[in-house]
Amino acid sequence: MKHLLLVVLWMCAYRVAVAQQPGKRPNIVIIVSDDHAYQAISAYGQGLMQTPAIDRIAREGARFDKAYVTNSICGPSRAVILTGKYSNKNGYKDNETSSFDASQNSFVKELGRGGYQTAWIGKYHLGHDPQGFDYWQILPEQGDYYNPDFLMMDGSKKRVEGYVSNLIEDAAENWLNQRDQSKPFCLVIGHKATHRVWLPDTADFGLFDDKTFPVPATFYDTYAGRKAAQVQEMSIAKDMRMGYDLKMFPDLDSVRDGNIARMNAAQKASFEAYYKPIKADLEARHLAGKELAEWKFQRYLRDYLSTAASLDRNIGRTLDYLDKNNLTENTIVIYLSDQGFFMGEHGWFDKRWMYEESFRTPMVMRYPGVIKPGTVSDAFVLNLDIAPTMLEAAGVAVPKDMQGESMLPLLTGKKAKGRDALYYHYYENGEHAVSPQFGIKTKRYKLIRFYKRVNGWELYDLQKDPQELHNLYGRKGYEKITGSLKKQLAGLIEKYEDEEAKQLLTQRTGKP
Ligand code: CA
Repeated sequence: MKHLLLVVLWMCAYRVAVAQQPGKRPNIVIIVSDDHAYQAISAYGQGLMQTPAIDRIAREGARFDKAYVTNSICGPSRAVILTGKYSNKNGYKDNETSSFDASQNSFVKELGRGGYQTAWIGKYHLGHDPQGFDYWQILPEQGDYYNPDFLMMDGSKKRVEGYVSNLIEDAAENWLNQRDQSKPFCLVIGHKATHRVWLPDTADFGLFDDKTFPVPATFYDTYAGRKAAQVQEMSIAKDMRMGYDLKMFPDLDSVRDGNIARMNAAQKASFEAYYKPIKADLEARHLAGKELAEWKFQRYLRDYLSTAASLDRNIGRTLDYLDKNNLTENTIVIYLSDQGFFMGEHGWFDKRWMYEESFRTPMVMRYPGVIKPGTVSDAFVLNLDIAPTMLEAAGVAVPKDMQGESMLPLLTGKKAKGRDALYYHYYENGEHAVSPQFGIKTKRYKLIRFYKRVNGWELYDLQKDPQELHNLYGRKGYEKITGSLKKQLAGLIEKYEDEEAKQLLTQRTGKP
């Protein structure tokens, strides 16, 4: 008892001491992009393009090779990042039927109570105005690429001329310039890039036109043995639209899409100068079948990667700002996407699935003096872990109801074991016709239960089948591993208190 009292007293003294030395507590910059695939980041070594700024964070800190999300969709992922809780607990399950209750607790509110100055700038997309930030300036909903509006704290809406990634960085630097320098800060920079419809900065048009990208090995996947994959509507060949997605517009003035309609005369002229010859060439070639599908794939990658080029450049500006203002040594910088994205694997664009390309997200983190430069982590981490990690770094107690785990022990102590399995649950049942699904991933296997749109299970041996093409569920010889994975899945569902999944787990699905 006496020991416990001493420990408590010591902890209180530590908290007070930490609070009185703002210079000692790290500043925090969290950069969250939208739909940025790890396949498109050179630190992850896939060669589609160079991303020097993201690579710099990885080189000077840690690269997470097994970072995942709990629910691979935009708004819900941001809600998980803020609250440190699964969607079933924070209430924001999908973009179509649920809304985020911003009055609930978040790690940013905890940091604010702990003496931090806090801000969210850029894409937020959680429905209501942010709560618990000292400052915010956000894009309305999805926002626009050119000359976007920003919603301001005083209720006003401000249109700013220019390209969204540059403008978000400008606003972030403005806030940093005028912040209260006596306090440590936590700044979240929310980028719109690289969300559909991948509109590059006019300065970046044509950046990848001299490259022909290799068509992924699974581009012509026939989805044999995978019912949910057979009914999706996110195929580059079938579902990517010639106008909206690929900018093959007959006439720009008749386009109602906000991104296009908002362009000024100079931007429109640039746009037409770039896309019109591409359209004329396409019309002259009369492509069909595989040739047309691969033309779409190349166009998709060129626009997507050009959009990502500005994103990376602006992340570089954030790093330069920290350098110039002597903040680098005492600032944590973490970069992640709100989820992964398909870059033509399985023939797809978009996200949502528990399959690797969308379930896994890029994540790099620099924390000078704590993370050894060049660290590569193979530990299973989740977007769920950002909240407790930042609180631990700031010396602020992690609320007991947060479900994530701090990543710091994985980066600083060799003894930390980390998770042996990940739990996932995607709820949306609308756009792209992707079936709701939940499941478990272990180091070797993945077991997925689809429901609502398609009912059934899928099992993958990731060691033998990393591309997830062979559904082994119900196959002879896999009874034992299936049973053990189901048991482990039930344990995770219990742990994260997901009542909906608990009910579904015991329901019969019929023959796979
Ligand atoms: Ca997203």
